[in-house]
Amino acid sequence: MKEHYSTLVIGGGTGGIMIASQILAKGLDKNVGIVEPADFHFYQPAYTLVGAGTYDLEDTKRPMKSVIPAGADWIKHKVVKIAPDENKVILDNNDEVGYDYLVVSPGLKQDFSLVPGLQEIMDDPDSGAGSVYTDPEKVWRNIQNFKGGVALFTQPTTPIKCGGAPQKLMYLAESAFKKTGARDKTKVVFATNGSVIFGIKPIKETLMKVVDRKNINLKFGHNLVEIDPEEKIAWYEPNKNLGEYNDLGVEVLKKDDRIGIKFDFLHTAPPSVAPDFVKEAGLTKENGWLDVDQYSLQHNKYKNIFGIGDVAGLPTAKTGAAIRKQVPVVIDNIEKLKNGIDNFDKKYNGYSSCPLVTDYGKMVLAEFDYDGKFTPDPKLKWMFVFDSSKESWILWLLKKFGLPYLYWNKMMKGKDV
Ligand SMILES: Cc1cc2nc3c(=O)[nH]c(=O)nc-3n(C[C@H](O)[C@H](O)[C@H](O)COP(=O)(O)OP(=O)(O)OC[C@H]3O[C@@H](n4cnc5c(N)ncnc54)[C@H](O)[C@@H]3O)c2cc1C
Repeated sequence: MKEHYSTLVIGGGTGGIMIASQILAKGLDKNVGIVEPADFHFYQPAYTLVGAGTYDLEDTKRPMKSVIPAGADWIKHKVVKIAPDENKVILDNNDEVGYDYLVVSPGLKQDFSLVPGLQEIMDDPDSGAGSVYTDPEKVWRNIQNFKGGVALFTQPTTPIKCGGAPQKLMYLAESAFKKTGARDKTKVVFATNGSVIFGIKPIKETLMKVVDRKNINLKFGHNLVEIDPEEKIAWYEPNKNLGEYNDLGVEVLKKDDRIGIKFDFLHTAPPSVAPDFVKEAGLTKENGWLDVDQYSLQHNKYKNIFGIGDVAGLPTAKTGAAIRKQVPVVIDNIEKLKNGIDNFDKKYNGYSSCPLVTDYGKMVLAEFDYDGKFTPDPKLKWMFVFDSSKESWILWLLKKFGLPYLYWNKMMKGKDV
């Protein structure tokens, strides 16, 4: 480890490895450090498939040292403090590391305890509650052990990684319940704080057909506020989007202004926030996320700090696909700054995508930008996918085999994708 790096990256996840690899592969900088405490790097997009029993957790995992690009120093520590006025970070062993440019990519903090009762029920191995975000193998066990009743799929009101993952898991679980024999005795409910199943029109139209086919009860405008782990009740405060689609006669409880749904099986994403050390450094904006310009990804106060990935406060979905488009923008902007140019012409347009698995063997690919426009990748036509808003088996193959291949062999290796 050196005392100073020209480019210092916080985090060896999707964003951190991708940017360090590209900087080195393109020969833009030779003095690159990555601060990352973990021994392993995970391909998180496959967690949904693990939770549905169609992907092995071991295959999502690679030793961190195998993804750290040659030429970068791996600083195997945690950043506990950023001192942006002094251009340095402080590590968990009290060492200090200086930088010219800092790329902040430590992901987000998942914290079940932000919803009272949620941590307790998640910790209970026999509760039927789980999350593919934190323990996808438990979710698959829960699916197999479920004997029928109300299967509640929900999500918190905070932003989460890949906002579509909770419903992907639901579509797969609904089919798995048919195989286990539980489906006939089950009401499947999706309770969300949103007002639509998905914000992009052609994708929404397809998903509503899936919802009908699978006979799913949608409950909109439901802000999850508490879990009663003993009685297995999820309590919600209704918001102005309250509405229902496909009333299956699920028992609903009322307490003061709250609506309760009693469940026998629960899946949720964890409430998520920016890591504490990012907040404590004064780098976040009012909503608690890293304060970067949404087009240049440059910090709004500290011009030599950039943010990518889940930590960034951007009005788009937090995905690896978004990072793929963010990285070239940040690289270009750092290059310009080094050459004394602060007029950035390369802009991130908010591109993100969500591979919405709708069943075993079926997927639609939602791609969109800051304007909420559907922006399908023309390259898909090479794969005979002419309308990626419609369910397709080829897209399923892309999810299960193609995207993991691209991730490990292109994105992690600093190659253009
Ligand atoms: C269930 C699920 C399904 C998903 N599905 C998809 C999908 O289909 N498509 C898609 O594109 N994306 C998907 N994603 C999202 C995608 O995986 C994330 O958006 C992406 O990994 C974020 O990258 P990141 O670098 O911001 O954070 P991460 O990849 O989470 O990496 C953060 C890294 O920072 C390290 N770190 C944390 N704190 C510190 C610290 N203090 N000091 C140093 N290092 C630190 C961590 O150890 C970690 O290695 C999914 C995610 C989940 C959980």
